[in-house]
Amino acid sequence: MPDAYKIIDHVYDVVVVGAGGSGLRATMGAAETGLKTANITKVFPTRSHTVAAQGGIAASLGNMGADHWTWHMYDTVKGSDWLGDQDAIEYLCREAPAAVYELEHYGVPFSRTKEGRIYQRAFGGMTQNMGEGPAAQRTCAAADRTGHAMLHALYQQSLKYDADFFIEYFALDLIMENGECRGVIALCMEDGSIHRFSSQSVVLATGGYGRTYFSATSAHTCTGDGNAMVLRAGLPLQDMEFVQFHPTGIYGAGVLITEGARGEGGYLTNSEGERFMERYAPSAKDLASRDVVSRSMAMEIREGRGVGKEKDHIYLHLDHIDAKILAERLPGITETGKIFAGVDLTRQPLPVVPTVHYNMGGIPTNYHGEVVTLKDGNPDAAVKGLFAVGEAACVSVHGANRLGSNSLIDLVVFGRATGHRLGETVEKGAAARPLPKGSEEMALGRLDRFRNAKGGSPTAEVRTAMQKTMQADCAVFRTEKTLDEGKTRIDQVFGRMSDVDVTDRSLIWNTDLIETLELDNMLPQAVVTMHSAANRKESRGAHMHEDYPNRDDANWMKHTISWFDKGQVTIDYRPVHEYTLTDEIAYIKPKARVY
Ligand SMILES: Cc1cc2nc3c(=O)[nH]c(=O)nc-3n(C[C@H](O)[C@H](O)[C@H](O)COP(=O)(O)OP(=O)(O)OC[C@H]3O[C@@H](n4cnc5c(N)ncnc54)[C@H](O)[C@@H]3O)c2cc1C
Repeated sequence: MPDAYKIIDHVYDVVVVGAGGSGLRATMGAAETGLKTANITKVFPTRSHTVAAQGGIAASLGNMGADHWTWHMYDTVKGSDWLGDQDAIEYLCREAPAAVYELEHYGVPFSRTKEGRIYQRAFGGMTQNMGEGPAAQRTCAAADRTGHAMLHALYQQSLKYDADFFIEYFALDLIMENGECRGVIALCMEDGSIHRFSSQSVVLATGGYGRTYFSATSAHTCTGDGNAMVLRAGLPLQDMEFVQFHPTGIYGAGVLITEGARGEGGYLTNSEGERFMERYAPSAKDLASRDVVSRSMAMEIREGRGVGKEKDHIYLHLDHIDAKILAERLPGITETGKIFAGVDLTRQPLPVVPTVHYNMGGIPTNYHGEVVTLKDGNPDAAVKGLFAVGEAACVSVHGANRLGSNSLIDLVVFGRATGHRLGETVEKGAAARPLPKGSEEMALGRLDRFRNAKGGSPTAEVRTAMQKTMQADCAVFRTEKTLDEGKTRIDQVFGRMSDVDVTDRSLIWNTDLIETLELDNMLPQAVVTMHSAANRKESRGAHMHEDYPNRDDANWMKHTISWFDKGQVTIDYRPVHEYTLTDEIAYIKPKARVY
């Protein structure tokens, strides 16, 4: 017999779940067009993971040398290892400068050049002249706290509009009816009440799922809750095997040292003091794209040239850079080095290691933010009433590998596009249609299940087992053997969820219950990530399969689409968009990806 819950009903035109950069931009956009808009967020908006972004946001402003949006597009396509959809990439790069100027007008305190223009630094994989020229300085920065500045500006702006914020509400599940999204159910963590939102459209802006891995730069809240809601709604996720490792997480702590550190002249060395990136990427060196640098570091460590007692990490040098420049351009990093590695980086190198950082995969959408699915064989069929944006979404502009500073721009460009689309498609203040009978059953059923979970496996134990399995079997290098074993092991960990133990039944500030719900969200994503990786018999971007070391465009230039039902994964494929949006640029044909 299910518990009696207190349910409070709400009616909105639009409900956005998530108040990171993408969710706030979409909320503002929807409210601006006059739609009655709610934003639900499990943490206070300015605590969303976007706050931690350091290095900056890419746009071809050309403040520090020649630049053009088509050059940005070329680099993004190449960075994606030709898995990105080129219509969406064109939209991203073309709209990027306007989106950055918009942020400037919203009050983001960008660093400045002597002339007073927005300061831009070099980032990996960003070049001039369609890959032919030298590094482009394209990444706009507010020192090394760009995400912090952006999130605060966006939150302040969104308070100007008439949107209602439901802060510290945990969204549990979507309300679906005949393939259409009708709303969402959430738990108010403060008083334990249940809130049923009926809305014409729901936008998922719930961020990535980095915490499925043991060592990650992302916040503990990055559990991919929106992705999991989509899987439970019977809809698929896309390209989940593409997980980005950032080359420079602080050894042991996982805390990020921005790529901007190498953009400002930092470099990596091995135990022999060699700048080994010169061997792997003769022209871009330490600023090759992230997958390339991470793999090179892993190779050095594997071949016995790692540093430290266990020879299991690499040094990042910033000690040759003028201390004044470090204090001005990388103040946060200087502090992070001191706190998390005990290193004074003006004098000593920092111990670093490749660390999980970003999920290229997620909820498949088109460049309007509308969720698409492979319905009846149509690869671009939109799901009525459902949008996704930010790291939760897979547009796909990052394809098999995201370039640094291309996520922050993705948040605001597609957050804004989603706002526009909502304005065009949603009827303002339409009378609420009755919700389907039992609309709350799935969400409350899960709550009941975990509140009464009296098994032998504490949540933290199952979570560690999941994280260690992903880290061991689905990391920078993958083989047929690790992936096959990984599938069996992760399926077993998933099975342990039926034996989970939750200490307390309370609905009020019950962190054990919330962490269990998050674990229940992460596990299916871990399972589809492992299975999607095992299925892809090639190497592309972040997916390096040692038994199939080459990219195979003839057979594998396609997006993985994965469903999850009762522990079973189903996989299919969707073609990559091999066309652009306008005649201003032609489809960029695949080439070898060398840096
Ligand atoms: C340390 C670090 C540094 C980075 N630096 C850069 C950089 O310099 N440049 C760059 O381009 N990218 C960078 N990235 C990547 C980029 O910051 C992220 O991809 C991006 O900020 C994600 O934004 P988002 O809006 O998708 O989600 P997030 O900012 O992660 O926000 C997710 C939101 O969803 C809400 N939410 C989630 N689940 C629920 C639920 N169940 N119920 C209610 N609310 C929920 C949360 O409360 C939160 O508000 C960095 C990432 C990290 C981890």
